[in-house]
Amino acid sequence: MTGSDPAAPVIDTSVPHPARRYDYWLGGKDNFAADRESADAIEAKFPGMRAGIRANRAVLRRMTEFLAGEAGVRQFLDIGTGLPTADNTHEVAQRSAPAARVLYVDNDPLVMSHARALLAGSPEGATDYIEADLRDPESILDAARDRQALDFTRPVALMLIAVLHFLRPGRGQAHSVVRTLVDALPSGSYLAATHFTVDFMPAEEKARYQHLLDAGISDIWPRDRAAFAALFDGLELVDPGIELISRWRPGPQPDSTDPSRISIWGAVARKP
Ligand code: SAH
Repeated sequence: MTGSDPAAPVIDTSVPHPARRYDYWLGGKDNFAADRESADAIEAKFPGMRAGIRANRAVLRRMTEFLAGEAGVRQFLDIGTGLPTADNTHEVAQRSAPAARVLYVDNDPLVMSHARALLAGSPEGATDYIEADLRDPESILDAARDRQALDFTRPVALMLIAVLHFLRPGRGQAHSVVRTLVDALPSGSYLAATHFTVDFMPAEEKARYQHLLDAGISDIWPRDRAAFAALFDGLELVDPGIELISRWRPGPQPDSTDPSRISIWGAVARKP
C-alpha cells in the first residue's frame, strides 16, 4: 500500500483490532504488535480464547454447509467477515452451491484490502465486499441494495458469527441491529449467530474476565444464554437449538474440549 493511492485504506497499526487479533489467534500472519499484545493479554487471563476461536471457525463451516445444503439458501450476508483464512463462507457455500452469492461486510479497512484480492469466488456465484459497521445496519442494507449484491425477494442467510459480542450489552443495541436486519429479509431466510459467553466458567474465572472488561483490556462482551436466545425472537430455531458451538451438529470427530474453554453459544434459525 502506498500513500499515493487515494483508495488505500487508513490502517492504524498501533491500536489492536478484533480482525487482526482473531487472525493471530487462528495462526495467521495479518496482524501487528498491538494486536498480538492485546491477544496475549486476554489469553493470559483467559486461556480458553484460542480453543474457542478455532471451534468457532469450525462451526462457521458446519453452519454454512447446513445453510447451503439442507436449507437450500443461495445468498449469504456475512457481517464481521474477518481476515481471509481457510474455508471462508463463500468457499464453503460455493462448494455445495456454486451459484451462491455472498456479500461480506466488515468495519476493518485491513479486511477490505485483503478481501479485494482474496475473496474472488466461483465463476457462477458472486462474492462482494463492503466496508460498513454493524452498528449502522441501515447502511449495510442500503449498500447491499445499491450494488444489487443480494436479491431481497429471495431467502438470505444472515451470518453474525463472532461479531455481536463487540456490541456492548445493556443498551439493546444488538437486539435492535438484529431486528433491523432480519426485518429486511423475506420469509425462508435464516439467521446464524455465535456469541461469546461466560456461562460455563467457574465463578472466579468469571470475575477475572469481568476485570478484563472493566480495565478495558477486552472488548469482547459476554452474553448469557437468555440474552443470546432473545436475539432469535420470532424465528424458528433449527435442531439442536441454542448450543455450545462444539455441540452444534458436530462432525464425525466431535470436539470434546471442556465447555468452559470454548465459551461460545451458537444457533441457526429460520424466519417463518
Ligand atoms: N466471522 C468470522 C470472523 C470473526 S472475527 C469468523 O467467525 O471466523 C470478528 C470480525 O468482526 C472482525 O473481522 C472484525 O473486524 C469485525 N467487526 C467487529 N466489530 C464490527 C462492527 N461493529 N461492524 C462490522 N464488523 C465488525
